[in-house]
Order: sequence, then structure tokens, then C-alpha cells
Amino acid sequence: MTSSTAAPAPSILGGPSLPQERRLVTAIPGPISEELMARKHAAVASGVGTTMPVFAAGAGGGVLVDVDGNSLIDLGSGIAVTGVGNSNPRVVEAVTRQLQEFTHTCFTITPYDSYVEVAETLNRLTPGDHTKRTALFNSGAEAVENAVKIARSHTKKQAVVAFDHAYHGRTNLTMALTAKSMPYKSGFGPFASEVYRAPLSYPFRDGGLTGPEAAQRAITQIEKQIGADNLAAIIIEPIQGEGGFIVPADGFLPALLDWARANDVVFIADEVQTGFARTGAMFASEHFDIVPDLIITAKGIAGGLPLSAVTGRAEIMDAPHAGGLGGTYGGNPLACVAALAAIEAYEEEDLAASARAIETRIIDRFTAEQASDPRIGDIRGRGAMMAVEFVDPATGEPDAALTARVAKAAHQAGVIVLTCGTYGNVVRFLPPLTIPLELVDEGLDVVLEALAAN
Ligand SMILES: *Cc1c(COP(=O)(O)O)cnc(C)c1O
Repeated sequence: MTSSTAAPAPSILGGPSLPQERRLVTAIPGPISEELMARKHAAVASGVGTTMPVFAAGAGGGVLVDVDGNSLIDLGSGIAVTGVGNSNPRVVEAVTRQLQEFTHTCFTITPYDSYVEVAETLNRLTPGDHTKRTALFNSGAEAVENAVKIARSHTKKQAVVAFDHAYHGRTNLTMALTAKSMPYKSGFGPFASEVYRAPLSYPFRDGGLTGPEAAQRAITQIEKQIGADNLAAIIIEPIQGEGGFIVPADGFLPALLDWARANDVVFIADEVQTGFARTGAMFASEHFDIVPDLIITAKGIAGGLPLSAVTGRAEIMDAPHAGGLGGTYGGNPLACVAALAAIEAYEEEDLAASARAIETRIIDRFTAEQASDPRIGDIRGRGAMMAVEFVDPATGEPDAALTARVAKAAHQAGVIVLTCGTYGNVVRFLPPLTIPLELVDEGLDVVLEALAAN
């Protein structure tokens, strides 16, 4: 509360030129962060929680420097957003220039070319060589909402199927699509109607079910409980994010897609978390050889500026009448030029290759450790989207308490690491693709020390 007594935060310029090191100069949190947290509690709604107890002052490459001068290893990227690194120089330059030209006109009043160029770029980059269209929005959830609107408009049907463990956002429709009650839905109903849930392929907990078998299980349930003639769309994360970085068994996604195609059901891939080189390919759909009808992108798209998109088959995307899609800020010019700069970085710097190098590092390290520590139940993911599921070795049951202790100890030792999973027993790694590999190694050391001590 006593903001006036807080020392001013040291002025730290972010970007990749920040020293790439873990450096603790105070306890975590330090005194300035503690004062700010007290102000946060007094001023910010409690429903807006924070993972880390420290306030940011600068970030870039693979580190985040807090207001007390601690330099933390960033294994979270602000939830898979800063794939190109914080304050990426290309993004900074493009946004700075745009700031001086104009900041907003509203694309649906007086359009500007950067929006069109983002659309052209996404049409080129996303899987499939069919004719495509793109519409831009602000957040992942807003894009999900619009993808469902578009699918309903095209099919003239209403029902939507989402999957177990799914996460699609926190707005009313996307809460309905999201699986997990706490913390995302509990107390916030009633939820949107005509949303149904189907079983996923979850190899670690599926008892040997193959991908095609898991798809058939879902399809049978959909046919019996909803009926294809009522179903507008199925929406799925090709690799689940918040639900636990679950990679479906081979053959699951193609079988679902084939069924959707045969039944006039729009197949929507939610690549909000998996998109833009994160998984070692530009889009995770490529790992499974699927070409979704619609693909939703956000998080990694614009180097940290808020932007999201729905991209897909022209005949589906063009179904809604003019004026049916849009919004005041969707495709804001600052976000559009940031996206063009970020995408240039993903492509020209081959950040997908960086993601694959990070994958190898994490798999090798945890696989070696798993031999002597059976609490490491599963190691999974692709690229720089990797996770470890912790279990009680005696029962195979999820161990959320251990997971929370490991994450907390890592935070205290200067590593930003996130947890996820329906059972809260998954530690996930989402470093910026620009992180030096030595920092990945050091971050993993810290997490493994935390595991050994807990
Ligand atoms: C984060 C996320 C969303 C929601 O995006 P917001 O920008 O937070 O609204 C939707 N789907 C997936 C897969 C996500 O990871």
C-alpha cells in the first residue's frame, strides 16, 4: 500500500542484449517486488493471479530481469508468446515506426496494408495449398469465438465438440469449450449451449489405445450423442496446452479429420499455443500431416503484441455476411507490423530449428533422470513445448503436490517455470526460441535439483 516509500525500479532496457545469465541479488521476491505485490493486492482484482512473486523490469533473449535486479531464466515466454524473444529488435523497429505513422484507424472503417499483408502471410504459411482467407482479432479466445461463428454460418448447424482436457479460453463460449472447472469455469456459469465434449487420445493414460481406436471412441460418442447432422465443428488443440501438453497417438487427428470432412463438419485446429515454430514446425498440425479447415493462431504471432487470427478455406471463411466479423481493435496496426516482423524472424532465423534443439536437450536430460527417479512418469511434447508429468511411483497417480513444490523451488532459485495439466501434475517448458542453450541446461539443472530436494 505504501507506494510512496518504494524505491524506483531500476531502469533496465530489455531485448536480446541483456546479459544472458541467472543472477540472484536478493531473495525471490526482493523488497521492491514485495512492495509492488502489496499494491497489486490492494488495487488489482484477486481473480487475476500471478505465478511468480516478482515484477518485471526488462526481458530479452532467454532472461527476465526483475525490479530488484535479479535475472531469471525464462522457461515460460509469458505462456508461449515471446517465441522471438522479448523486445525482439525487428519487432521494436517495426512498431516504433508504426507508432509514429498512426496507431489506429479501425480496419473496418479505413483499412491499411499491414492487415492485408498479415492475412496474405498467414494464408501462405498455414498448412494446405487451397485458397484461404484470414480474419484478425485481439486474443486467442476472441479468435476461437469467431472460428465457431464462421463454422456455424457455413454449415448452418449449431453443435460444437471440444475434447477432454481442452483449453480454449475464458470468455463465455470458450469457457464452455474448456474442460477444467477450477480455476477456469467454477462459479462462472451458465455456459453457452450446444457445446459437447468427446474423449481425447492421451497415450500416457489411455491403456494402450491406438490413435485410430481413440478416434473411433470419440466418433462413436459424437454420432450417438450429438449426430453429425447437428454438428458444425470439432475444435481441437493438435497438442494440448493447458491440459498437459498431451500429444495424441499417431493416427488420432487424421482419423478425426477424415470423419469431419465426410460429414460436413468443420475441423478447427486451435494452434494458439502450438503455432509459430513453437513445436519445431511452423504449425503443430504439420507433425500429424493434417490440413485443418480452420486454424486459430494467437500467442506467438506478434512478439508480445495482442493479435489473433482465424485462417482457413475461403468457402468457409467467406460464409458470414459483411459486418458479421470484426471489432474495434482487431488487427490493430501496431500488432500487425509486429506480426510481420516476428514472422520474418521465425522464418529467416529458422527458429523452428532452435525449437528442435531445445526439444533434444530437454528429452535427453529428463530421460537420463527418469532411469533413477520413477516419479518422472512421462516426458512429452514437441520442440520448445515440452512437459514432464509427475506421478506417485507406487500407484501411478498424479502427484500435484510434488509438482507445486518443484515449481516453487525453481522460482525461488531464479527459474520461471509453469505447471499445467488437468491433474496439476505437469511441469511445462516453453522457453523463448531465442534462449541460449546453456541457459536451458542451467534451468533444467535447477528444476532437477528442486526435484531431488523434494
Ligand atoms: C491461451 C490459449 C487460448 C486463449 O488465448 P487468450 O489470448 O488467452 O484468450 C486459446 N486456446 C489455446 C490453445 C491457448 O493456449
